[in-house]
Amino acid sequence: MNMYSIRQRSHHASLVKLKDAFTDRQNHIEYIKKVLKTKADRPRAIYIHIPYCVKLCSFCNLNRVKLDSSVEDYHKLIIRQIKSIADYEYIQSKEFESVYFGGGTPTVLSAKQIEAILKTMHDLLPISRDAEISVETSISELTEEKLDVMKEMGVNRFSIGVQTFVDRGRRQLGRRGSGYDAIKKIQKVIDKGFKNTNIDLIYNYPGQTKEELYFDLKIIKELDIAGISYYSLILHEGSMLSKLIKEGKIAEPPGIEEEKIFFDIIYEELLDSGFDVLEITKLVKKNRDKYQYIQVKNRAGDCLAFGNGAGGRLKNYLYYNQPTISKILYKILPVSPMGKVITNNYNVVDKMIGQVQFGYISFNQLDAETNEKMYQYCKDFIDRLLENGLIKKDGNKYKLTKDGIFWGNNICSDFTERLINFFEKYD
Ligand code: SF4
Repeated sequence: MNMYSIRQRSHHASLVKLKDAFTDRQNHIEYIKKVLKTKADRPRAIYIHIPYCVKLCSFCNLNRVKLDSSVEDYHKLIIRQIKSIADYEYIQSKEFESVYFGGGTPTVLSAKQIEAILKTMHDLLPISRDAEISVETSISELTEEKLDVMKEMGVNRFSIGVQTFVDRGRRQLGRRGSGYDAIKKIQKVIDKGFKNTNIDLIYNYPGQTKEELYFDLKIIKELDIAGISYYSLILHEGSMLSKLIKEGKIAEPPGIEEEKIFFDIIYEELLDSGFDVLEITKLVKKNRDKYQYIQVKNRAGDCLAFGNGAGGRLKNYLYYNQPTISKILYKILPVSPMGKVITNNYNVVDKMIGQVQFGYISFNQLDAETNEKMYQYCKDFIDRLLENGLIKKDGNKYKLTKDGIFWGNNICSDFTERLINFFEKYD
């Protein structure tokens, strides 16, 4: 009997549990005003959200809208937000080691708009000289002109939302362009010198065959892609794909047994070809993609977030930028007023959950006595993971096995709950 039968396919459940558990009731606006006058001391990243896509994919429920004329001024909003916060001590006192443009599709912006944002950032924010500057993109929006501008402005990592190189799968997922177009474009990006080029890969979509999956893996190896983020298809309520499935126009995706077979194929094929596990949903060529942005996030670092609907964190202030941000509020307060203060225990649990995302469990965040107490509190859970072959002892920590990585988000979610209960009992 397996420990789990229903697979959690994202980290979301753990994050929600965390956020609800460790609230510090102090006035969050007064808190952030004080923080902005202090010196920063955490690892830190910048996140810029561009919530537009030319076409909405059939499976996607991310925070994005179909491209419209509001995009014309969107970069000005980002620039205004950067200017409103740039001078504070907290922002200037420590370098940012990573910048991440996410979406949506950040490359729907024109070359000039992208350049304007990057220039403002370099001029006003302390970005480390060797910072990772990463841009999510689809193949269709990545023009020669944009590539040149981004190279000039220090972009050094791409995350390309390919999902599959198989034309049938691309049509079903609502992706623009053929698999051949995707291959040609990625080759061009790599030839331009962007060696740290990554792709998103979706597996277990309706009707996917093993041959189709092997085809995707063959292309990944041949193109010498630096890393992949691989996700089993999640059918979001209300997405176009789930409607088509409900109406019987497309078959249901395969069940959990087939999903595990697909997962094993990806994992084994790529680990045999020189990839390593960076995260439970991320395999990278050895020492090629450090994915600095996620390293900062999983170490409970600061994330200075710009753009409509982006979520960020400065010290113990978690915030969310409203979809429409009022200029007046931004004059009073440089960070969105929609937020809350979290306690230090949030940081402890967040880092421990971040470790699970990196593929291991460790009790090393507090003093020796508390670590031991925490371990004893979680011991029956750890023993069950060991018995079920989901982790194995590795020095003074536990490493997730291949099966543990498959069930990694379930482990994260249960571990989060266990740690929350620990703090409720002993704090
Ligand atoms: S998958 Fe990417 S390109 Fe497609 S709708 Fe979602 S954010 Fe846009």
